[in-house]
Amino acid sequence: MDEAEYPHVIGRLFEGVPELLDPAQPAVAAFDLGLVRGDGIFESLLVRHGGVRGLSTHLSRLTRSAELLGLPAPDRAAWASLAAACADGWPPEVEGVLRLVMTRGLDGLAGPPTCLATLAPVPEETLRQRREGVGVRLLSLGVSADERARSPWLLGGAKSLSYAVNVAALRHAKSSGAEDVVFTSTDGLVLEGPTSTVVWASGHSLHTPPWDSGILAGTTQADLFEHAEHAGWTTSVVPTIPADLVAADAVWLVSSIRGAAAITSIDGATRGDAGLTPTVHRLLDLIDE
Ligand code: PLP
Repeated sequence: MDEAEYPHVIGRLFEGVPELLDPAQPAVAAFDLGLVRGDGIFESLLVRHGGVRGLSTHLSRLTRSAELLGLPAPDRAAWASLAAACADGWPPEVEGVLRLVMTRGLDGLAGPPTCLATLAPVPEETLRQRREGVGVRLLSLGVSADERARSPWLLGGAKSLSYAVNVAALRHAKSSGAEDVVFTSTDGLVLEGPTSTVVWASGHSLHTPPWDSGILAGTTQADLFEHAEHAGWTTSVVPTIPADLVAADAVWLVSSIRGAAAITSIDGATRGDAGLTPTVHRLLDLIDE
């Protein structure tokens, strides 16, 4: 079956109660602050074999993002039943992206936040990158590694809807033949990808950059580290410079939907993964035995 033939699902919370909407009908008002200002938060969750992955940790991060943006605390039970309603009946052989979106509501009206969910197939391109990896460009995010910790209005650590800079960086990388980006700080530290966490391996250790630089705390990185430790790896959160990525045995961009995509080149210089990517996919439970 063609990707486009699979259902696209839209749901919302109306007065705290989940309801599914006709995907062909508009679901957001033109005055919604999420639409006109990017003023809101979201989460992307993988639906695999018909089940929603990591719901509890994603709802915890949604709650943290709401705190950082001064939005009301999400009603976890209501969001969980909205996620379940969307995933109910989703074909188990199709991987899906479940997006939970909460905005500040309508401009000029003291109404409730808008709470929406969408479910659509994972793009084939994303699955290909999981299998084959990505070439990356190192691009400056234009802030020092400690700036966001002292400037809370920059929303470090929040998964806000304001992703125009992130997708612009991806477009920029693509215009020069790469497929993804590793952001660096103005003081030369590795931050994160526009939609992913950087993880690198040396020997039997996995490493990732620290969150006090304002990067998003990744649920996939946390999951990977937990499973890697059980499998006998050591893990560490360490300030990282680009030279560490060049010298590493393997580097991945990890995120909920794509899983782990090995970095196959950095600024045009090719690099390998020491054959470790299948192990990482196994630790993330992304291999169909
Ligand atoms: N960093 C950023 C900026 C992201 O947008 C994402 C996910 O979209 C991640 C990291 C990875 O987070 P997770 O593993 O929870 O999907």
